[in-house]
Amino acid sequence: MTRSIGLDKRVYDYLLSVAPPEHPLLAKLRAETARLPGAGMQIGRDQGALFQLLVHLTGARRYLEIGVFTGYSSLAVGLALPPDGRITACDINPDTTAIARRYWAEAGIADRVDLRLAPARETLDRLIAGGAAGSYDFAFVDADKTGYAGYHELVLPLLRRGGLVAYDNVLWGGGVADPKDKSEYTLALRRFNRMLAQDERIVMAMLPLGDGVTLAVKR
Ligand code: SAH
Ligand code: CA
Repeated sequence: MTRSIGLDKRVYDYLLSVAPPEHPLLAKLRAETARLPGAGMQIGRDQGALFQLLVHLTGARRYLEIGVFTGYSSLAVGLALPPDGRITACDINPDTTAIARRYWAEAGIADRVDLRLAPARETLDRLIAGGAAGSYDFAFVDADKTGYAGYHELVLPLLRRGGLVAYDNVLWGGGVADPKDKSEYTLALRRFNRMLAQDERIVMAMLPLGDGVTLAVKR
């Protein structure tokens, strides 16, 4: 699980100690994922709680996720959505999403989740072609970082006006602020962050939560 980048372990542990109790299935999924390679990709408990708050705040019913992994973020959002809520979940990994499916089923929300196992760009193109433009209330982008700029151009049309999109890992462990770091993902995220700040189609704010989360609302 990702600890908020700006907090040392002692303060983060305190924050979690006074956080509302984690849903038992979220706690179980976090424990199961901790044994897997890539466990650090899972969003933190505090970020899951924020997403649940955002669902309540916005009254979201339709959620689009790009990057499911073992399902923590989709399960957190799914538990907060109303009974008629719907999730479109994009990933390319059949093994990790098999775990996600197991938890959606245990939570009784499996019939609300449409998992698309294909490169997300293809799925987003298909959704737009299928007439889903303007229909999503909330989207979360958390897949390949070099794809973010492209996802932005496809997610925006899929959101309704006033719809919300969250981008994960925008601080990339602090790498974006280190001029010596010229890795592919760092360069892509630096460019993406600069681009988003100039984008007049959205209102945005970057939060130093988790590994950096940008929230953007479609005007
Ligand atoms: N949101 C998840 C973590 C996602 S990790 C959580 O809270 O646990 C990133 C995921 O993006 C991985 O599961 C990976 O398989 C997926 N991914 C990578 N490239 C992708 C692509 N081109 N299309 C769809 N999914 C992709
Ligand atoms: Ca992430």
